[in-house]
Amino acid sequence: TKFVYSFDEGNKDMRGLLGGKGANLAEMTNIGLPVPQGFTITTEACNDYYENDLKIRQEVIDQVEDKLAQLEREQGKKLGSDNNPLLVSVRSGAVFSMPGMMDTILNLGLNDTSVKGLIDSTKNERFSYDSYRRFIQMFSDVAMEVPKYKFENVLDKMKEAKGYSSDLDLTTDDLKVIVEEFKKIYKDEIGEDFPQDPKKQLMLAIEAVFRSWNNPRAIVYRKLNDIPGNLGTAVNIQSMVFGNMGMSSGTGVAFTRNPSTGENRLFGEYLINAQGEDVVAGIRTPQSIDTLKEEMPEMYDQFVNITQKLEAHYKDMQDIEFTIENGKLYILQTRNGKRTAKAAINVVVDLVNAGTIDKEEAIMRIEPNQLDQLLHPTFDPKALKSAELLAKGLPASPGAATGKVYFHADDAVLHAKEGEKVLLVRQETSPEDIEGMVSAEGILTARGGMTSHAAVVARGMGKCCVAGCGELRVDEAAREIRCGDRIIKEGQYLSIDGSSGCVYLGSVEMTSVELVGNFEVFMNWVDEIRDMMVRTNADNPRDAKKAIEFGAEGIGLCRTEHMFFEEDRIPAVREMIIAENVEDRVKALDKLLPFQREDFHGIFKAMDGKPCNIRLLDPPLHEFLPHDDASIEELAKQMGIRPSDLKKRVVDLDEFNPMLGHRGCRLAVTYPEICIMQARAIAQGAVLATKDGHKVTPEIMVPLVGHVNELKMLRPLIEEAVNEEFEKAGVKVDYTVGTMIEIPRACVTADEIAEVADFFSFGTNDLTQMGFGYSRDDAGKFLGEYVDKGILEKDPFQVLEQKGIGRLVQMAAELGRGVKPNLKLGICGEHGGEPSSVEFCYNTGLNYVSCSPFRVPIARLAAAQATV
Ligand code: ADP
Ligand code: MG
Ligand code: MG
Repeated sequence: TKFVYSFDEGNKDMRGLLGGKGANLAEMTNIGLPVPQGFTITTEACNDYYENDLKIRQEVIDQVEDKLAQLEREQGKKLGSDNNPLLVSVRSGAVFSMPGMMDTILNLGLNDTSVKGLIDSTKNERFSYDSYRRFIQMFSDVAMEVPKYKFENVLDKMKEAKGYSSDLDLTTDDLKVIVEEFKKIYKDEIGEDFPQDPKKQLMLAIEAVFRSWNNPRAIVYRKLNDIPGNLGTAVNIQSMVFGNMGMSSGTGVAFTRNPSTGENRLFGEYLINAQGEDVVAGIRTPQSIDTLKEEMPEMYDQFVNITQKLEAHYKDMQDIEFTIENGKLYILQTRNGKRTAKAAINVVVDLVNAGTIDKEEAIMRIEPNQLDQLLHPTFDPKALKSAELLAKGLPASPGAATGKVYFHADDAVLHAKEGEKVLLVRQETSPEDIEGMVSAEGILTARGGMTSHAAVVARGMGKCCVAGCGELRVDEAAREIRCGDRIIKEGQYLSIDGSSGCVYLGSVEMTSVELVGNFEVFMNWVDEIRDMMVRTNADNPRDAKKAIEFGAEGIGLCRTEHMFFEEDRIPAVREMIIAENVEDRVKALDKLLPFQREDFHGIFKAMDGKPCNIRLLDPPLHEFLPHDDASIEELAKQMGIRPSDLKKRVVDLDEFNPMLGHRGCRLAVTYPEICIMQARAIAQGAVLATKDGHKVTPEIMVPLVGHVNELKMLRPLIEEAVNEEFEKAGVKVDYTVGTMIEIPRACVTADEIAEVADFFSFGTNDLTQMGFGYSRDDAGKFLGEYVDKGILEKDPFQVLEQKGIGRLVQMAAELGRGVKPNLKLGICGEHGGEPSSVEFCYNTGLNYVSCSPFRVPIARLAAAQATV
């Protein structure tokens, strides 16, 4: 196997083998840019190292020695030589760039003899010793894990003793002393002399870079960015050029455009007389690249010329590292620059307008999830750096929020009314907290998963939420949070990041963004290319309007029960539940009907002709009742009944396993009057909206069907009620009746069900729950470990699990369409806004996906990408 490639043997398409850095060094070499020469050890060699008991195979070592000899010949220098020695850098370079996460060693090849050779060939003694002390420090730190601070201490002491303000003040003699002290530190720590054999230095350095693939920060970075852990890193051995040779030398980094805004203007920093990490290390404050124009106009012009060449070549914004050695410019790295979502959009729109790329390419370049950043306010990255992390929970609903913590919904409402910024913190939320959630800037819970009530509702509202933050002990009675030995009391500030799950102490500054200009232009291209519809999950006119602003083309799921919790109607809801006989129940339902009619009227108006999928009552009834004695007593008093009677009813309704209990269409089968009331309310709402001059397209959806007979019984009841209302009003509205497919048996018998359904909507939350047999309220306890241990690739409640659950969806789609070729298919689970799941839906032939309002743009982009 070929494990080692010279730069002139590779190209940019070989990043899998050579890593991003190596592939681009090769590419730049090919297009004739001034790149110091060298060679790349492949990622395969790294993986082989890991498979081979952490040993570098002899075959690899031989190939490295061959390439090194070749490099020595070309450069006319020899590693470790006492005259004109070759020095190299040993640089990590993964397939997907992980800036700063892995290790690099500079000036390798220096030892007590070759430093003399370097002085000889450069006539620069200070520079030579400066390079040597840098090498000892970096090698010790990276290859031998000697703590950096031990070296920093020596430097600091020396500077203090001599009254220097900067490293630049160190004299040659100082540096000689430092080199000796550094070697002593090495000997004390490792128990051996600093290695003088340059080949040994090289092999140890290569191994250190291999190992750095698995250092903790690299692992964290990969997790955050969804980069597989088995790719390995390549190693680049490159001859050194020196930015620390004096005042006509320097080093820097520049982006061809501004990475925060996308502005088409060179953006960067550099330092004179410096090397490598100095620019980012913060020891000296670097200068803006604009200053280079005055300081070294010729270098600046050459550099600008190269940056333009590189951007044109890669057709994307580049992040470029350069070094100037005695007035000669070298390019050390280029890559597609990391950028904010805002910059990403501005860059692709610019590139399309300039004719560099086409619209399809532009669409493929934006990571759909990245759009989230644009839809929610976020923390100012600078402020975040100094913020103190308290704990980490699940990133349940993106955005950032800062506020004073309150532990009860009423308190949140009250203080928000007084103009305070409020965070609602709960052990877990219940539907009754909804008002508090509306008033709060954000929601933080100690329990509950990504599909918990708090999470679903928060996403619907576009409100930031961190859920399941298990490190927190939320004591609602004492009104405080305990976390380790810290206590946060009511009224103190916390800041939460719903995109990362991080909870910070105190208040962190925010930045917000608008959805105009290039974002709009870009989303129009998305819609031109997209051919699957995107709807929204919305329970009220406010959310529906928001979703339409974001481009929703209909409602895919309106959960009627969310309306039941509102303050003015909960008494009637409870009356209905308590009712012991049909008459009492109908009486209570009659009180509810006007409310529901207005709900639907409002939603139909907001949607103005766009299809509205309304789901009939779904949750088990006990969810609407209080459970502790005090609340039961209070409610009984309000309702004018005996607490014991109410208590009895609560106990009656209690279920061992409510998720598999008396809910969904099972409620309608046993209490048909509830379903009939809702059908009437939908029809009456439709009539009102029609009379207002709106077109109305209701789709009535029966939840949780597992047997065709359920739908066979319910469909006629619904139709009868709806038709009767239309006749009464003398208005005719086209509507459909269909079902949610969320029980595995329904998937398997979808052909039967399709006979009586006008549409299917896949409820993939329940389908995942029942398909895997994972309670979604409890799965948080083990799913994390399932993912860590590789049993599952992803949390199946976040990313649709395609092999099993997806198979069920495909089966239902095929069986259903086999009976009814035009059967309308959609998805309304949380997966409807997750890019890979959206692609799956497209490939399965679904007519639409539906997701919470703030994910609509993401789903639109993902749907467009699926068609490209
Ligand atoms: P990272 O991946 O963390 O950016 P690099 O491998 O790019 O690490 O190395 C960090 C810095 O070291 C580079 O930006 C460059 O300034 C310096 N460097 C690396 N190789 C050389 C070299 N051959 N000559 C001069 N400087 C180098
Ligand atoms: Mg770099
Ligand atoms: Mg369901």
